[in-house]
Amino acid sequence: MNAILTFLKNFADSDKKPIRSAKVAREKFIEKSPELPRATETYNGATVIPRPEHNVSRQQISENALKVVYKLKKEGFDAYLVGGCVRDLLLGREPKDFDVVTNALPEQLSRLFSNCRIIGKRFRLAHIIYGRDIVEVATFRKSGSEKPSEAQRSTREGRILQDNLYGSIDDDVWRRDFTINALYYNIRDFSIVDYVGGMADIQAGLIRLIGDANERFREDPVRMLRAVRFAVKLGFKLHVDCEQAIHLNAHLLASIPAARLHDEVTKLFLSGYGVQTFEMLRHYGLFEVLFPAVEKSLSLETSHFPKMMVINALQNSDKRVEDGKQVTPYFLFAALLYEPMLQRANEKVAKGMLASDAHFSAASEILTQQVRRISLPRHLTLAIREVWNQQEKFEFRVGAKASKLLVHPRFRAAYDFLVLRAQAGSVPMELAEWWTTYQKVSDSERRKMTLPQAQPKSTKPKKKRTYRKKAKTSPVIHSEG
Ligand code: ATP
Ligand code: MG
Repeated sequence: MNAILTFLKNFADSDKKPIRSAKVAREKFIEKSPELPRATETYNGATVIPRPEHNVSRQQISENALKVVYKLKKEGFDAYLVGGCVRDLLLGREPKDFDVVTNALPEQLSRLFSNCRIIGKRFRLAHIIYGRDIVEVATFRKSGSEKPSEAQRSTREGRILQDNLYGSIDDDVWRRDFTINALYYNIRDFSIVDYVGGMADIQAGLIRLIGDANERFREDPVRMLRAVRFAVKLGFKLHVDCEQAIHLNAHLLASIPAARLHDEVTKLFLSGYGVQTFEMLRHYGLFEVLFPAVEKSLSLETSHFPKMMVINALQNSDKRVEDGKQVTPYFLFAALLYEPMLQRANEKVAKGMLASDAHFSAASEILTQQVRRISLPRHLTLAIREVWNQQEKFEFRVGAKASKLLVHPRFRAAYDFLVLRAQAGSVPMELAEWWTTYQKVSDSERRKMTLPQAQPKSTKPKKKRTYRKKAKTSPVIHSEG
């Protein structure tokens, strides 16, 4: 028996270091797991995989998460690690966080841990706080198919609003989203409990919903974004039922509160897999619900500039994540929404508005519409507007204007944005290069560079749509498309 069932352990022993590439992790998993582990025990219909037959070791689990589960066990409660951490450990990846689930109620957790804070309305959860590290502990909950009660409320379409009906592990499992996220690591005997075939799906590289796919997406449409996020991050495929259900239910995302979508979209785009995520969201019709104006502008595009710019912006932020640098959502939003803003401004100019007013008004409209769907704090929408406003000023290179621009607090981001536009081909590369040099050289060199005779003949974009000026003083707004 042991000979058949030790593949997961072998896999772990030879790969102590976490693997970043999803593809490599999965290939290694499969290479070392010619057969799935067979249950040596079953528990209420679940497969129990004992410690010698899987690769999750306590050495890979965070010290604080272990403290929490050991304390719960000592106090006589059940305690399991569940969700992404078990999935990631099985795949040889470093988990982002460790989630604990238990039969202790939030009030009991609060009494047990002095460093405990109860949070959440939709789900009451305990946060056990160790400095900057937080271990999230949830009490087992029942699935949404139970008769709604005081503790559980849902909308007419079936979306769950409040869900505090406590249960046992075999209730809890059915309310989780995907089979690969529903594996439990039991601290009592270090076994893994699998009710839903999650082990098989990890091996097959499949994202499969637990239960009826349409129903599960109707209950919580954000699961569609989670499906895409896990598929991209792990290099997994969506099960055909999951794919079909996304095509059918994508529009339901529009009913999700903007603040929740902010969190999900930030995770989707700033986790280092932005380009693939963008393509996959568009493929499944999810992107158009999240960014309607961007989708419209992409479908109207007459050249590849706007899409190139979005892709370049995503590539840059993926690279920053890879290099361990910080990423902020506002730069990405600025890149995504730039073309819709320019298109809107041009419509206004065509109707007779002054270009400068059109620019200002279009920026307001586009940002207001977008934050209704995905919230953005005000300081970020302001930052986006500043980056956009600076673009026109890069054209002025004579006299004191250039040096003024250089000391603007948002100069760096605005310059990066200019480079992005140049790379996409919507402004001449010469302009971006001029600004690159201007930053590097001495003051006396800078003065020389800004003399009228030092200017190149034309810095205008190669190809653009222009509109006739309404007034002599108003600058023309150029669309990138
Ligand atoms: P990661 O933390 O790597 O992003 P995760 O799977 O751990 O992935 P979390 O958001 O931390 O994701 O959630 C922990 C677990 O809670 C999930 O694995 C899943 O079992 C459950 N879960 C989270 N969100 C949902 C949801 N919207 N519907 C059903 N179950 C969910
Ligand atoms: Mg997690």
